[in-house]
Amino acid sequence: MPLITNNEQRTTNNLDITRIRQDFPILNQTLYGKPLAYFDNGATTQKPQVVLDTITHFYNSINANIHRGVHKLSEESTKAYEEARETVRSFINAKNTNEVIFTSGATASINMVAFSFGETFVHEGDEVIVSEMEHHSNIVPWQMLCERKKAKLIVLPFDDNGELIIDKLDELITSKTRILAVTHVSNSLGTVNPIKEIIKRAHKYNVPVLIDGAQGVKHGIVDVQDLDADFYAIAGHKIYGPTGIGVLYGKEKLLNAMVPWQGGGDMISTVSFEKTVYNELPFKFEAGTANYIGAAGLSSAIKYYKSVGIEAATAYEMELLNYATSKLLSIDGLRIIGNAQHKAPIVSFLVDNIHPYDTGMILDKMGIAVRTGNHCTQPVIDHFGIDGTVRASLAFYNTFEEIDRLIDGVKKIKEMFG
Ligand code: PLP
Repeated sequence: MPLITNNEQRTTNNLDITRIRQDFPILNQTLYGKPLAYFDNGATTQKPQVVLDTITHFYNSINANIHRGVHKLSEESTKAYEEARETVRSFINAKNTNEVIFTSGATASINMVAFSFGETFVHEGDEVIVSEMEHHSNIVPWQMLCERKKAKLIVLPFDDNGELIIDKLDELITSKTRILAVTHVSNSLGTVNPIKEIIKRAHKYNVPVLIDGAQGVKHGIVDVQDLDADFYAIAGHKIYGPTGIGVLYGKEKLLNAMVPWQGGGDMISTVSFEKTVYNELPFKFEAGTANYIGAAGLSSAIKYYKSVGIEAATAYEMELLNYATSKLLSIDGLRIIGNAQHKAPIVSFLVDNIHPYDTGMILDKMGIAVRTGNHCTQPVIDHFGIDGTVRASLAFYNTFEEIDRLIDGVKKIKEMFG
């Protein structure tokens, strides 16, 4: 990874960061008398004013339940919901909107596949592969499936740099393998996995692949057709959208073959006590009142992100990452956990023997928000035999000056612990 070693090399890739920051009202505040430096974007991102306005406008002027009314508001509400689906479709380049299912988040998307795909295609003695660097959301649903079906969970390991040992796949995939579930970007190590190559290898054995895109979709352009992903899970709140809305992309052929995961209104075509006929895609997987206002908020967030420029934003975030990495490494006794060749702007570290919670709590008093602990990736933390890490996860509204504050803060903490 090319490291930036002096300040002259700071570049914003033509983004006007001062102006961009004005789009995010929450960033313009002080905590404990210090300006907020928000480095917890891996957990959730902040929301631009345009997303907040979309939500307020919806509640103030359009709100009505979708798909079920003939009145004007219901029609407008439905139109906005289906337009949001189209915005997502084009954002990830899905073939058609039948492949875009709205969920409550990445966790719900993965659970849906673990249940619906699992009920349809996984049987006793079958195998499911996940990687060692998965978020708990991409481990536990598969474990639950394996318990239910008496199937076996197989783990694809990573090396000490935090890179998946993908050559092992040829060994791990057997005639019993039914699905491979792997993250696009590790939320605790920052690793960007070579998912196109992983999918290609799995497809050689006719094994479908679910990609956990919770962190992936905000670091560069995702094209599900180019990747040939079978499923891709998205969390709206991690791409500048509201909480409680997410997406499951799935290939139409697979989604059509799968049983629904929840029953209720909207997912049916006809109901009688003798037999219920399920609705077509995408509604078959959207039981109950959908989060249509969340969907509109997500659509607004995607449009905003595109207007900033996804490629420019990603390039700037990589400049920030390189800068933060080189500055952190200049601190004696600081260790970075996760040194893959290809990283997203996430840096996990430990300073001497200082507990990550202590580092996080003292940084907080300096107005600097980082996350500490296992980041819902207990197996990653166990791999390194540590208690957890301090994680700074960056977004395009962060600045080099904020990183300087983080570095100064870490240096002060190191002095305090002597
Ligand atoms: N997968 C990864 C890699 C994540 O980082 C997260 C959240 O941090 C999730 C899944 C779960 O996302 P959500 O809690 O939004 O469902």
